[in-house]
Amino acid sequence: MSARAELRLSLVSVVLLIGLCQANLAQDYDLAGLDLTPPATLVSSGVTLYQNVRIFDGKSTELSPPSNVLVRGNTIERISVNPITVDTNTNVRVIAGDGRVLMPGLIDAHWHAFMAAIPQMLMMTADPSYLHLLAARQAKATLMRGFTTVRDLGGPVFGLKRAIDEGVVLGPRIYPSGAFILQTSGHGDFRFRFEVPRTLGGPLSHSEVEGVAAIADSPDEVRLRTREQLRQGASQIKLMAGGGVASPYNPIESTQYTEPEIRAAVEAAENWGTYVTVHAYTPRAIRQAVAAGVKCIEHGQLIDEPTAQLLAEKGIWWSLQPFLDLEEESLALNLSPVSHQKAMAVFAGTDNAYKLAKKYKIKTAFGTDLLFDARAANRQGAQLAKLVRWYTPAEALKMATADNGELMALSGFINPYPGKLGVVEEGALADLLLVDGNPLENLKLVADPDKNFLIIMKDGIIYKNTLPK
Ligand SMILES: [Zn+2]
Repeated sequence: MSARAELRLSLVSVVLLIGLCQANLAQDYDLAGLDLTPPATLVSSGVTLYQNVRIFDGKSTELSPPSNVLVRGNTIERISVNPITVDTNTNVRVIAGDGRVLMPGLIDAHWHAFMAAIPQMLMMTADPSYLHLLAARQAKATLMRGFTTVRDLGGPVFGLKRAIDEGVVLGPRIYPSGAFILQTSGHGDFRFRFEVPRTLGGPLSHSEVEGVAAIADSPDEVRLRTREQLRQGASQIKLMAGGGVASPYNPIESTQYTEPEIRAAVEAAENWGTYVTVHAYTPRAIRQAVAAGVKCIEHGQLIDEPTAQLLAEKGIWWSLQPFLDLEEESLALNLSPVSHQKAMAVFAGTDNAYKLAKKYKIKTAFGTDLLFDARAANRQGAQLAKLVRWYTPAEALKMATADNGELMALSGFINPYPGKLGVVEEGALADLLLVDGNPLENLKLVADPDKNFLIIMKDGIIYKNTLPK
């Protein structure tokens, strides 16, 4: 066959294929045909009645009197101190709470599902399909720590999110950002030193191809990369607006992007009903981002008092992590001496940051940002327990439930899980933990989820039940 005939034939088959596959180009198709139902032994759904539980509702400073909670489908239908009767014809699972505490599932506002538990060098060198399987395993571990929702602030998690939502694998709800967007030399530029110059529109680096990072210089490029993440299903956009600890080519003091570049992302996100959050430590980086219209600051440990005041005045969210010391964060990431120094500066700022967040009543989110270490990832709950240094257990739990739930809702009409998260209220989504002990008296309970979370329910489905029979 001549080359031309061959080309014509392949064009014809492409056209045919596109025609035939049109229906499949949309996101949805019939999964029942693929037999992708969740493993029956692990989960149960339908109607669940919790009897005799004391409720931490995500907001109060005290537990409720002994109550009953009815979950139907994925929703909390009724809460009452009086007995709830249910139609005996329906198949109801009755849980005898025996006065134990029922609380909302935990929310981590700064998580990286793809890279929380894998060494950085492995992430940069291993077969991507292998890394995605490891991420799936870690997603299940995350859910089993009682974190029923995470806001993912960078990494290729669209497939993982979809697989979890479809019940293919187990894991939390994921609010994905997709690739984090950064400038050349900015935080998250992990290219090798020789991989410059980059030409606009030129080949992508490895981490860009894999969807970890998106390098963009100029408002036009930032706008393009932002829209690409939104197209993939990002529920919010993450930009690097200042220096970082582990990245090689930028001082921690550096301000990244310019106001017009950040504003390009903000406009694109706001047109999609959502918002931009930025990685920033210093007052200068934070102020520039706020001026450009971002709605949330990640980290901010090097903030000063006037900038904290600005966050309060403008109602900007502050997503803070209780970074205190290297060993505890397992940030023994083989940090270079320079990165080590940067880490120390950030950790030294943590105490001041929380004090300012409290003083100015800034909307504060709880997040862990644990990276590149499975042992560190296992300490997700322990990170929350550390907040007692600044907050009462009730305040800390409120931050990791109702407050974080409010932050999730900031993704507006593209919210992937519309409905109330982080609260135990009639009509809210049924993400619930049954706790052995009272976390309002002892927050350390959340640091040992294997032992203390007897039931873990997400979206009305019980994924763990170790309640003594
Ligand atoms: Zn992060």
